Amino acid sequence: MGWLVLIGVAFGVFILIGLLSSAKEAYTGSQIQSSLAERARALAPGYPVALKYVSEPVFNAFAYCDQNGTKCVAIYQGLLSKFGDDSGAIDFVIAHEISHHKHNHMVVQSIVNMLSDAAYDGIRPVGFFESLGLAAPGSTPPDLFSVVVKGLMDAGTQWISRKDEFEADKSAVEMMKRSNVDPTGAVRALQRIMIEEGSPGLFQALHQRIFGSHPLTQERIDKVAAQVGGSRA
Ligand SMILES: [Zn+2]
Repeated sequence: MGWLVLIGVAFGVFILIGLLSSAKEAYTGSQIQSSLAERARALAPGYPVALKYVSEPVFNAFAYCDQNGTKCVAIYQGLLSKFGDDSGAIDFVIAHEISHHKHNHMVVQSIVNMLSDAAYDGIRPVGFFESLGLAAPGSTPPDLFSVVVKGLMDAGTQWISRKDEFEADKSAVEMMKRSNVDPTGAVRALQRIMIEEGSPGLFQALHQRIFGSHPLTQERIDKVAAQVGGSRA
């Protein structure tokens, strides 16, 4: 009987520790989220945007609209841990993502993606045969025509996203200057991003060679450094 009580107590303690550690994690998460929100308010006073902290070890941050149409910015734990206590670099990331909202980049990009997907599905010969039931979707390898069309469309969306990145960087630096935040954090943030890009998996390495996102980051660093240096004197 004594053993049963002991096992019961041990189990209770086990559950309690689990509950406490997840409560602690949630508490830390909400603290980080509110400090990110505070930085966002300082950078873009009065601008309606919700900061979401994602407790996952991924080097990422992005702007999106939730199902209620609320403008959101997601920042991952993996990104914050790489930036450490460099608040200037974190400010740049927040300002950059807010700028995507201010310039309506997500809206334009999602429309372009939708149109290009629709156009691609509409004209590709494979889809026509599939619609007649001659081939199950996905069972036919893509023909050269589809590959070329898809490639051209990806190049188009790629061009738009390049343009958007430069625009978001530029207005992020302006935002930092307006809020009296040291804009040199912008250069450090992009340099860190380039380092993170430098240790990719095979797929990313291939992707970068095709779409040239690595040169893009170097170009972003050059532009931002010129902008930061240009009007600080
Ligand atoms: Zn961006």
